[in-house]
Amino acid sequence: MASIPQPSEAQFIAQLKYCKSLPTLPAVALQLIELAEDNSATLDEFAELISFDPALMGKLLRTANSSFYGQRRKVANLSEAIGLMGLNATISLSLSFSLRGLASGQSDGALDDTNYWSRSLLTALAARTIAMELRAPQPEDFLLAGLLQDIGVLAMASLLGSTYITLYKDSVDHAGLLDQEAQRYGFNHAQAGTQLLKYWRLPERIHESVWRSHAATRAEDGGDTGIERLSACVAAAAHIADGWLQGASDDAFEAAYRLASVHLDIGPERYRNIIASMSDEMPDMESLFESELVDPGILQGIQDTARELLALRNLSLSKATTEADVQIQALEQRIAMLETQTRRDSLTGLYNRLYLQHRLELEFGRAIQERSPLCVAYIDVDRFKSINDTFGHAVGDQVLVAVAHRLLSASRQTDTVARYGGEEFVVLLPDTDLEEARAVLEQMLASVRDKPCLSREDADSHVSFSAGIAALVPGLSAFDNPAALLEAADSALYQTKSSGRGQITVHDPGG
Ligand code: GH3
Ligand code: MG
Ligand code: MG
Repeated sequence: MASIPQPSEAQFIAQLKYCKSLPTLPAVALQLIELAEDNSATLDEFAELISFDPALMGKLLRTANSSFYGQRRKVANLSEAIGLMGLNATISLSLSFSLRGLASGQSDGALDDTNYWSRSLLTALAARTIAMELRAPQPEDFLLAGLLQDIGVLAMASLLGSTYITLYKDSVDHAGLLDQEAQRYGFNHAQAGTQLLKYWRLPERIHESVWRSHAATRAEDGGDTGIERLSACVAAAAHIADGWLQGASDDAFEAAYRLASVHLDIGPERYRNIIASMSDEMPDMESLFESELVDPGILQGIQDTARELLALRNLSLSKATTEADVQIQALEQRIAMLETQTRRDSLTGLYNRLYLQHRLELEFGRAIQERSPLCVAYIDVDRFKSINDTFGHAVGDQVLVAVAHRLLSASRQTDTVARYGGEEFVVLLPDTDLEEARAVLEQMLASVRDKPCLSREDADSHVSFSAGIAALVPGLSAFDNPAALLEAADSALYQTKSSGRGQITVHDPGG
């Protein structure tokens, strides 16, 4: 295959100037940059310019009222918002918001199915959070620089098209990507991004830090210029983003910390604070930038890891100061709140399917390791559709809540009761053999069946359920994975349904 000649760096820079498909900033953003260069511009002029873009104005107001600023009093107009956030922050935020959509607007959206935008947003959030933790001035500059760190990828994708996008997708990690780009094209996206930002006339501290954040720099104590610190924080933030995108394992968490601490002079405690604050601000970030950043399951795992490490910290602090105690308490409260949001089913308050799956994997691994039995019960309310049909959906909901409470009351402390979906529930019974499990389920069935589920006299609201139980008994009944165990319980449930309902069937490994 003949190789297509690729542009040199000089050619690339020349092309960048004339390329029509290059990412361009919206008019208001460009005018903002211009206005920012004018030292005599007043706050009102900025407010007036921003008000030409109602969507942008709305976002700035929401930001001022979001957890980013933690205001108790509502900010109701743009001047107040600018007053609260500061002019520089307003400009940085405006530019940040106007970058949303650049990724999907370019190269026929070919970058859409990569994690380009998620990584940029996570880097931005991490950079801002680090700035807050280090009490650095102008945290929104960090947000903007984080968001722009990889803007060169967009520029290269625009100019070079699919060959570049393939290279981007195939790269194993960020350092590898920079190497590959340099080998293939003679320049990398750090250079491309810096050039683009110069064309956009962004302030030097921003394009310089985008450039430097790609090299291994460290924020030195004392003599650090603003740009050095900004660059180091953005570099660390990118590692945190990579760790976050890789998932929730302890390894990813520790690796990201190790890489990030090459650039930052912080210990594990401050790092954990950063991660906890990022989790905290994630919902606002997602909503302001209209993106789902992280799979809730991964978010859950990251919180778990952070919380476990936090618990270790609690142990190691023999004489915590009151201030530290208060901080830890606040952190734990925030984590607990997030936990509730991601783990619980909103109707019944039981654990949700996502958490059940996570927990099942955990218990499955533990059962194998400790060679202890684990039972799983799959429960489905009988003829539930007819309750909805007779009394309406809202009453159906009340019945589900009643069933959930009874299952929970009849469960033991070590059991996990979850709503799997609709009128289906799953119970995990660790360290429990089939006989004991059956007894617990009989108890649950009796408590659901024996009393009406609604306090209405005009109608019979007794319900029953069908259940299937499967047991993992290491050395005896072999299941390859947690899903197979759950499936076995489901197929036992299916047998109950076909043999008359209102009973409990135990999965027969031979049948
Ligand atoms: P079977 O005994 O065979 O399980 O019969 P069934 O009627 O319980 O089973 P089917 O799966 O046909 O119907 C389940 C119904 O549950 C259908 C669906 O509308 C209803 N449902 C699912 N989620 C909810 C919910 O959150 N609230 C209410 N009220 N109904 C729900
Ligand atoms: Mg069902
Ligand atoms: Mg049913």
